[in-house]
Order: sequence, then structure tokens, then C-alpha cells
Amino acid sequence: MKVGFIGLGQMGAGMAANLLEAGHELTIYNRTRSKTRTLIDKGAWAAKDVAEACQGDAVFTMLADDLAVESVVYGDGGVLAHLRNGAIHISASTISVALSERLTADHAAAAQRFVAAPVFGRPEMAEKGQLFVVAAGAADAVGDVDALLAAVGQRTFVVSDEPKAANLVKLSGNFLIASVIESLGEALALVAKGGIDKRQYLELLTSTLFSAPIYKTYGDLIIQEKFEPAGFAVPLGHKDIRLVLAAGEQLRVPMPLANILRDRFLTLLAQGQERLDWSAVGSLPARDAGAD
Ligand code: NAP
Repeated sequence: MKVGFIGLGQMGAGMAANLLEAGHELTIYNRTRSKTRTLIDKGAWAAKDVAEACQGDAVFTMLADDLAVESVVYGDGGVLAHLRNGAIHISASTISVALSERLTADHAAAAQRFVAAPVFGRPEMAEKGQLFVVAAGAADAVGDVDALLAAVGQRTFVVSDEPKAANLVKLSGNFLIASVIESLGEALALVAKGGIDKRQYLELLTSTLFSAPIYKTYGDLIIQEKFEPAGFAVPLGHKDIRLVLAAGEQLRVPMPLANILRDRFLTLLAQGQERLDWSAVGSLPARDAGAD
């Protein structure tokens, strides 16, 4: 397929490379142009602006947050003004449910199609085409981009014909991951202060009742205090928890734990830790315990 890709950050770069690898004709755009170099060497065509990246059958956006997506989609030079009739905008960024709803309506009004396809998995998985894709949108649109989603992920879960549902599922998943990071941090601080070896403790947990990858990955990062370079940076984690709370507000679902997590991210931001991985939240309990 002829496809555009906007946003070549930690996740987008790997996803775009896998689209190329799968044989798609790829046009790329990134605000910071230097990030296009590697993909040009692999055969991608560099668009001079967003409009040029929107000339194909579909265009991905993989951008930091709502503001970034709005700035690329709306306005004279944006996706909405330049995507042809019937073409599909695939939004892979983790954005708000509210923006997803707005994009759905605005693309429909412009006779374009919209698929929300946020992803689970860190940049290493994006590079290997091993992401889990949560897709939602009209059946014809999701069907038409099936091969594109298969190129970036190991499995696609189609959750609804309403795009906003995929964003809600993605946000709920990130809420769960952040909860695990905080609770692992608390448990590790507790046992460590009690004189127990953290590595042995994690081995016990992850080889028995807590064998999910999330406990292994984040337990390791917390024990090693390996928070740099960030795979998923603190400001993005903060953004997602705020979006979870906004979705909870909209649906009238109290989420007391999400409020605690929001403050945890705020603590890291207040301490100037923007550059760290969001797993650094798991280091705060030890610090609180005077045991870091
Ligand atoms: P990232 O490395 O920070 O990349 C962000 C991208 O957005 C860059 O291409 C950046 O362009 C662009 N951007 C930011 N603000 C912009 C603006 N105002 N106008 C135009 N472009 C703008 O982030 P990432 O880790 O790839 O994450 C991208 C999305 O995927 C986020 O929504 C994140 O929540 C989600 N996600 C991340 C992970 C992960 O583990 N990292 C996993 C799943 C989902 P520049 O290069 O010019 O800065």
C-alpha cells in the first residue's frame, strides 16, 4: 500500500521501518527532520511537510500527545485538509478518548476514514514488529488497513467499530502498568528494608504467581534502577494517567488509585526528572522509606 507515517520518535521509527520491510511504499514526515535519515537510507521517501505525507491510501500518526496530534491534523497544512476522500488516518498515539471522538467526527465530515490503533509494547518491541495493536473503527476501514497493522504488531485486537473504544482500552492498560510499577516499588522497598535480597525476591515472584512479562520487565528496571535512557518517558506516563482520570470523569468512574499515580508522576516532574523512564515511579517508595 502507499502509506504515510508522521512521527518518528522512539515508537514511530521502528513501526515505520517495519512497514517498509513489509514492502509498503512509505512516505515519512517528522517535525525534527534529522530523524528521517535512517529510514530514507532504507528506502522511504521524505515528505517536505505533513500534506505530502498524506497523499497515499492511509497515513499513520504516532505522536507524543493530544496537542501534537491536533497540531498535525488540523489547520491548512494538516492531515484533515490533505487526505484524499476515502483514505484512512490511523492514529497509533496514546491520546484522549475525547480527541479520538473528535477525529472520528471530523474525518467523517471530510469524507475520510479514521481508525484508532494505539499499541502496547516498548520501543524494543516496536523495532521488532512485536507490538500488540488495539484497533477500532468501521469494519471496512479496519479491514483495509489490516496488513499495515500486521506489519507493526504481532497481533491486532479489534475491539469495536467506534475508534474511541481502542483509546479507552489502551489508557486502561497503561493505568494497570503504572499501578504495577508503584506496587512493585512498594513491595521491593518493604522487603529490602527488611533485609531480604531484592533480586531473589523478584525471582520468587515472577517464577510463581506473578509470571506476567510486566512484573519481570518492570521489576528488573526498578531493581537495577535503570531509568535512563527512557523507553517511555515520565511526561508521557503523566499524560496517560491524566487521560485515564479524564476518561473516568467523563464516564463517572472514580479511580482513587489513578489519583495517587498522578501525584507520583507529578513528584518526578517536580524534581526535574523528565528524562527518566516512567518505571522511575517504582523508585519513589524506597526513597520515602529512606532506603534508596
Ligand atoms: P517520543 O519518542 O517522544 O516521540 C514523539 C513524537 O511526536 C516525535 O516524532 C515528535 O517529534 C512528535 N511531536 C511531539 N510534539 C509534536 C508537535 N507539537 N508537533 C509535531 N510533532 C510532535 O514518543 P514515543 O515514545 O515514540 O511515543 C509516541 C506515542 O506512543 C505517545 O502517545 C506514547 O504515549 C505512545 N506509546 C509509547 C510507548 C513507549 O514505550 N515509548 C509505548 C506505547 C505507546 P520530534 O522528533 O520533532 O520531537
